[in-house]
Amino acid sequence: MLNKVLVANRGEIAVRIVRACQELGIKSVVAFSEADRDSLAVRLADESVCIGPAQPAHSYLKPPALISAAMITGCDSVHPGYGFLSENPYFAEMCEDCNLKFIGPSAETMRMMGDKSLGRQTMRAAGVPTVPGSEGELRGVEEAVEIARQIGYPVLLKPSAGGGGRGMRVANDESDLVRAYPTARAEAEAAFGRGDLLLEKYLVKVRHVEIQVLADSYGHAIHLGERDCSAQRRHQKILEEAPSPIISPEVRAKMGADALKGVTNIGYVNAGTLEFLVDQEGNYYFIEMNTRIQVEHPVTEQVTGVDLVRWQLRIAAGEPLTLQQNDIRIAKHAIECRINAEDPERDFLPAGGEIEFYLPPGGPGVRVDSHLYAGYTPPGSYDSLLAKIITFGENRDDALNRMRRALHECVITGIKTNIPFHLILVDDPDFRAARHHTGYVAELLRRWKEERAAAEAVG
Ligand code: ADP
Repeated sequence: MLNKVLVANRGEIAVRIVRACQELGIKSVVAFSEADRDSLAVRLADESVCIGPAQPAHSYLKPPALISAAMITGCDSVHPGYGFLSENPYFAEMCEDCNLKFIGPSAETMRMMGDKSLGRQTMRAAGVPTVPGSEGELRGVEEAVEIARQIGYPVLLKPSAGGGGRGMRVANDESDLVRAYPTARAEAEAAFGRGDLLLEKYLVKVRHVEIQVLADSYGHAIHLGERDCSAQRRHQKILEEAPSPIISPEVRAKMGADALKGVTNIGYVNAGTLEFLVDQEGNYYFIEMNTRIQVEHPVTEQVTGVDLVRWQLRIAAGEPLTLQQNDIRIAKHAIECRINAEDPERDFLPAGGEIEFYLPPGGPGVRVDSHLYAGYTPPGSYDSLLAKIITFGENRDDALNRMRRALHECVITGIKTNIPFHLILVDDPDFRAARHHTGYVAELLRRWKEERAAAEAVG
């Protein structure tokens, strides 16, 4: 087993990793920036080390700072969490060079899957269906136009190195595409340091369904069913659930088998997720693989009873994955709402302030993963995630009713949150009937805004 883990992250995921370490009897050291000195993870961990100033480029994104923090505290391994350096192959390589076990896959597989074009090509070669589009990176606007003529509009330009839903552009016709191409390249270059683009058919009214996998170092891999993350705002997930209300047991088995084909083909090790889009006819298409733990992992944990973060640690320690595919049973239903510091009435503007009072929801079927406490001021330099409220119930309706109850019960004062929007979503008739798709939240928000404007005009 591992002896001491450096937690190279912050916020709720740092707390989640510290908790898993404690349960396995592993010591944890939290690497924190000056802005995170008072964080909950720092309080809960066995030790902590300051790695630099608030700006991520000088702390959480700076490999030498993290590696020296691990070395001076005698760690034998590094857990990167999600975001920051979690999908950076150079960081993984540096860790291994310094005799620190990187808790994730090899640098080589990260490099392959971190590049969307290469990831697509690799999965296609393994027999996994991908969205129709360019073979690899586009060589120029002429090639983009030619492929678009073959596959038909609308099309999507996507940065090869992209992430977080950023930098994607939809083109509805040829003149749109010719206009969007240079802008998309410039945006990708500015955001990711690489202007390479790929082109995909833009699928409308689709669902985002992803398969969770676990693989050990001895070639044994299983999948843990799917998560449905179709509730998105600006291509970013806001509510996730397991299982997906639109996936039949047959499709689940087929998608799972395809995901495992991909995983085995690349010799993947540790926890990972293959993301797919599913159309109205039930056809699914691979879009990308995330080579790390994901924000929404708790819904899978709740419906399978498998602790994914513990398995990440055990697999990294060289333990064999003792779970077999037959051991995985998807039971009941789990929903996660991402509670962000945002003002939904002002177009989700990031909000700040000191948490005056914090009372997380509780009772049967409720789990909260959060780094909040009363008196804490979330630093403005990082993402706006404050808490994840996870509810589970006998079925989807039960889990949603519980979520409504939990959202009402949750008290966070001193800072604006998106809870009012979640309350609308969980009771929306189309969402309740699972008729939503990746563009649905935008439609709902438009209606909500119009209703508020009309109410103001009357009032
Ligand atoms: P990122 O890595 O930036 O998150 P992804 O490729 O994972 O980008 O896509 C994020 C989201 O963007 C998807 O969940 C989906 O809503 C939308 N999307 C991506 N590719 C397509 C596509 N070809 N057609 C329609 N929507 C897409």
